[in-house]
Amino acid sequence: MHIGFLGLGNMGAPMARNLLKAGHALTVFDPSAPALAGLVEAGATAAASPAALARTDVEAIITMLPAAAHVKGVYLGEDGLLANVREGVLLIDSSTIDPHSAREVAAAAVAHGNPMLDAPVSGGTGGAAAGTLTFMVGGEAGDFERARPILASMGKNIVHCGGAGNGQVAKVANNMLLGISMIGVAEAMALGVALGMDASVLAGVINTSSGRCWSSDTYNPFPGVLDNVPASRGYSGGFGTDLMLKDLGLATEAARQARQPVLLGAAAQQLYQSFSQQGNGALDFSAIINFYRKQEA
Ligand code: NAD
Repeated sequence: MHIGFLGLGNMGAPMARNLLKAGHALTVFDPSAPALAGLVEAGATAAASPAALARTDVEAIITMLPAAAHVKGVYLGEDGLLANVREGVLLIDSSTIDPHSAREVAAAAVAHGNPMLDAPVSGGTGGAAAGTLTFMVGGEAGDFERARPILASMGKNIVHCGGAGNGQVAKVANNMLLGISMIGVAEAMALGVALGMDASVLAGVINTSSGRCWSSDTYNPFPGVLDNVPASRGYSGGFGTDLMLKDLGLATEAARQARQPVLLGAAAQQLYQSFSQQGNGALDFSAIINFYRKQEA
């Protein structure tokens, strides 16, 4: 299949490489010349602009962009995809954006005669490289079935979440819970250690008791409890505090629009915001435990 791919960053580049590995022909665009060159070296064809990409004979186009403003620009702009793509080409946006914007862009695409899916991912850059991402997909069931074999080249779990925007709904709800649960685990671990317990013994108890969750048993924030997690390498790599802050912002904004209370989500957003303001935005989000731990003099 001939597929178009826009947005060759930390996530998009490895995803695009997996499409090439699966045997698809790929035309790519990114304003960053080095990002573009990397994919051309791997076998893709470079387009000069989103409009030029849209005018090729691609059967589907995938976008993996930083935020809603980029997605709106790329799809709805004068030189964007919708103004140039032929009817029927399947459009898939895998960026993490708010559900409201996803629905707005999907409605414009459908009005133009193009089926569109929102398909944000979880699994991080490791999952993108390994081709094991989870795709949370919103849109028509028939369009989902058309997209499934394409997404299967980049991911392992591909879940239809309902109509347009519902992929983003699933993503913001899950990540809000992750942000909250990490703070809960950090608070409990810091309390236990401050009261005299060994961190690994405490984590072992939690992980076989009712407090267990992904943040405690797979991504524990206390240094040394688990190998191969950011906590055990100075909170480098992983999922940055500022990325978590972005997702909590999407959740609280979507909640505001729906008049839906998210008391702990909003508190979590403020905590990460304060932590980021202190210069920790690039650290993995599990570093939030440092907010609770007595710092060495
Ligand atoms: P990134 O900043 O590394 O990459 C974004 C890419 O988009 C860049 O290469 C940039 O040049 C390109 N871009 C900007 N404007 C463009 C345009 N007009 N046309 C084409 N390309 C354009 O970001 P990322 O980490 O790859 O994340 C992409 C999306 O995936 C974000 O929405 C993010 O929230 C989401 N996400 C990221 C992770 C992660 O761990 N990094 C995990 C899950 C979801």
